[in-house]
Amino acid sequence: MGKPSLSPSKISTYLACPVRYRWTYADPRGRPYLRAKGMYSFGTTLHRVLEKFHGGGETGVATIGQVAAAYDESWIDAGFSDAAEMAEAYGEGLQILERYVEEQAREPATSQTLFVERVLKGEYEHFRLIGRLDRVDERADGVLEIVDYKSGRTEVSSDDVVADLAMGCYQLLLSKLHPGRPMVATIVALRSGARASCGFSPEELAEFERDLVKLGDQIVTDEIFDRLPSWKPLCAQCDFLTLCRRHPDFDEPPSEVARGENW
Ligand code: SF4
Repeated sequence: MGKPSLSPSKISTYLACPVRYRWTYADPRGRPYLRAKGMYSFGTTLHRVLEKFHGGGETGVATIGQVAAAYDESWIDAGFSDAAEMAEAYGEGLQILERYVEEQAREPATSQTLFVERVLKGEYEHFRLIGRLDRVDERADGVLEIVDYKSGRTEVSSDDVVADLAMGCYQLLLSKLHPGRPMVATIVALRSGARASCGFSPEELAEFERDLVKLGDQIVTDEIFDRLPSWKPLCAQCDFLTLCRRHPDFDEPPSEVARGENW
């Protein structure tokens, strides 16, 4: 059996709740409880369209009309509570994309896109780190810019970029592909067009990598099936609440729905 793989979303899931990690990635009994979510469908659709928009001339998606057509083709309708909610999201998405294309047309081109939606991997002793980068540009000054789209956000700051686990992982993975190249990570808040950038120094990146390896080793050696669910605010909106309620020691507050049957 190969080494286990860890992605930023797997690591974030573990940090939020190791039991949720178990149900999502390790125990097939969790799978039937995973629900499609409209916000994820919305985000995936926007990413697909932007992949085509930045993917080079051969995609044929450059003008507002072509972007609108690609949006319609790419639309994912899973997870919306009803037709009205979906129609509202569809309209919002179209507005976001139209504004994005207009902004791109106004901005002078000072960088070149190197790739879009590419999976990069980094090998460590006990695990493989995997990250899917939305886009990487090469600026005129030689700096590599990792661009990450956030479809649910209207605001973003450079502190958000520094604190974002995925952005750290992406810088680490890109540094393996382009050792020694200066780089910066940028988050684009698609709902407003706001963007913020920040980059690790080589020393900061080395420290991030040391911490990540420790955390990754902890995750892959954790006796995840022995972890017991414990109540936290996150539980109220968790797909796996029904499963966790079956554990006799699940400490759900009395105000919450009554506990189910045995684990
Ligand atoms: S319900 Fe709570 S304890 Fe159970 S997986 Fe979800 S977040 Fe974790």
